[in-house]
Amino acid sequence: MPELPEVETSCRGISPHLIGRTIIRSRVSQPQLRWPISNEIIQFDSVKIESVSRRAKYILIKLDFGWIIIHLGMSGSLRILPIDTPTQKHDHIDLLLDSGFILRYTDPRRFGAWLFTDSLANHPLMSHLGPEPLSDEFNSSYVIGLIKKLQSRTTPSSLVIKPWLMDNKVVVGVGNIYACESLFEANIHPSRKVISLDEKEINILVHTIKTVLMRSIKEGGTTLRDFTQSDGKPGYFAQRLFVYGRKNETCRICGHMIEQIKQSQRTTFFCSICQK
Ligand SMILES: [Zn+2]
Repeated sequence: MPELPEVETSCRGISPHLIGRTIIRSRVSQPQLRWPISNEIIQFDSVKIESVSRRAKYILIKLDFGWIIIHLGMSGSLRILPIDTPTQKHDHIDLLLDSGFILRYTDPRRFGAWLFTDSLANHPLMSHLGPEPLSDEFNSSYVIGLIKKLQSRTTPSSLVIKPWLMDNKVVVGVGNIYACESLFEANIHPSRKVISLDEKEINILVHTIKTVLMRSIKEGGTTLRDFTQSDGKPGYFAQRLFVYGRKNETCRICGHMIEQIKQSQRTTFFCSICQK
């Protein structure tokens, strides 16, 4: 599944080909993704692209009269291709650009989304999002403030750190892989109660989340296939992980066996020696 670093890399990959261009029209072969593709997108006719950005795991294309919100779902990918590139089975949307190229969306499992809105701020997908993990707004005082609020409630504290980090209202874009990896690198056990973390641990954790994500974005930028290639494979990058997906393999730090548990329906990987 594309996580924040892949979405950021996709965004950076397609941006230079889109900004300032005009979408002549769209070509939609499968209008039913996670939700139906917005009619405005299906009916595009000479639309100017002003900018491309990312918010959480959404790619936002700003047009002269609104926004396209793209989510890559479980298996979506975006490529820039020559306009006459034949479509294959899982290619669902082409935006035809005045440059002679297309932006093509491919998504075998069709859990992605292509929606149009004229107001981003009020859009239900955007309105309850927490801060970006790489922004200055996501810092230890912010996290300490949230935890203080939890402590002042009457039922403070069944909240567990790993699912809490994956809550978009706390911070956006920390998916399962990066929650597991960040907690490992911060030496924090994934089952710790949120309110049990001390200030030093929060400082380390916030710093680690940023470092792990930035490292991955950097690796993505160097290992990801060129966005203008047409080999049809999505460019998700494999990377060197410490715990995620490594059940029963040995910890790269202490040599102990990596363990696996379920938390809020998601699989968590951790090392019980390194993480306390
Ligand atoms: Zn270990």
